[in-house]
Amino acid sequence: MSYWREKEIAIQAVTRATVLCEAVQAEMTRVESLKKGDRSPVTIADFGVQALICRLLKDAFPQDPIVGEEDAQTLRDPTNAAMLAQVTGYVQRFFASATPASVCRWIDAGSGGAAKDAGSGGAVAERFWTLDPIDGTKGFLRNDQYAVALALIEHGETKVAVLGCPALPSRLGLEQAEGDRGVLFTAIREEGAEMASLGDEDFERIHVSQPNDRDRWRFVESVEASHGNPVLQEAVAQAVGFVSPPLKLDSQAKYGAVARGDAALYLRLPSPQTPGYREKIWDHAAGALIVEEAGGRVTDMHGKRLNLAAGHRMENNRGVVVSNGIVHTAVLQALKIAVE
Ligand code: AMP
Ligand code: MG
Repeated sequence: MSYWREKEIAIQAVTRATVLCEAVQAEMTRVESLKKGDRSPVTIADFGVQALICRLLKDAFPQDPIVGEEDAQTLRDPTNAAMLAQVTGYVQRFFASATPASVCRWIDAGSGGAAKDAGSGGAVAERFWTLDPIDGTKGFLRNDQYAVALALIEHGETKVAVLGCPALPSRLGLEQAEGDRGVLFTAIREEGAEMASLGDEDFERIHVSQPNDRDRWRFVESVEASHGNPVLQEAVAQAVGFVSPPLKLDSQAKYGAVARGDAALYLRLPSPQTPGYREKIWDHAAGALIVEEAGGRVTDMHGKRLNLAAGHRMENNRGVVVSNGIVHTAVLQALKIAVE
């Protein structure tokens, strides 16, 4: 089966979503955020993007469930009416007829139904989309890295991935202060991974780093220390020969960095502060396919394949190891020794 139409629609949706995010950043002197139950922030851009992308996906693929990170429950609370009005204003730039009620409905079209709740006994849909409207909201609030991540999963396997990274330098090299920014990564399973400047149609094939780039090999991890185990991550990276300190990036931009060879390794090991935390499918599905299709490898910390078909929480996996493939076995081995 060909996925070209899914890929085209997903590219359009993610590209428009990044326009919305950049408008919010440019126009709001201070982007307001609400704290969710898990204390993570959510902004009008998170809600606006989920509404926009769900509406576009539902127009094109009305039968497909969407498992998104957000829902409209907080926005429906009358005390947040001003925020809902702002979200609606941004969505109207793309759909002039949007109203507060339709915006809430479109956001909730991404609340996943059975696919999201599968962990609590529901059946997982055979085919569904997963969406992180703004991955790395903390990075977005700091004018740093963030991503819009969209993936199509069928029978537990990601088939199509689109990842928009508006703040990532367009060319290789993560530490450039100057130059164009904005990259869109995309992949179809078994058809390779590509990138283009955001809003551009000029895609080029990408590949993970190769043995002859070894001098430039870097390792990446989260900016948020509480989203991983930086002490163990650095010990493992050193044990397999990474000499430079890690580059810290928010969001699945880290997957993009590995896929195009800016980094050879991304480690996300369980935080000792949150032992019960389980990774969410929308934080990994898109990035993982892009890295695999660029020739890299993605597993959990025990070398197990990521299970994206058991609900939105990845109950059967612990941590995530993302690499150019070359260092993967050595990393898993070093990890095994370190945790024994
Ligand atoms: P990053 O920018 O890589 O730090 O990832 C941001 C994502 O981390 C958010 O979308 C959250 O879903 C996720 N997250 C929140 N709490 C944790 C945690 N304790 N461990 C790992 N990831 C988390
Ligand atoms: Mg996220």
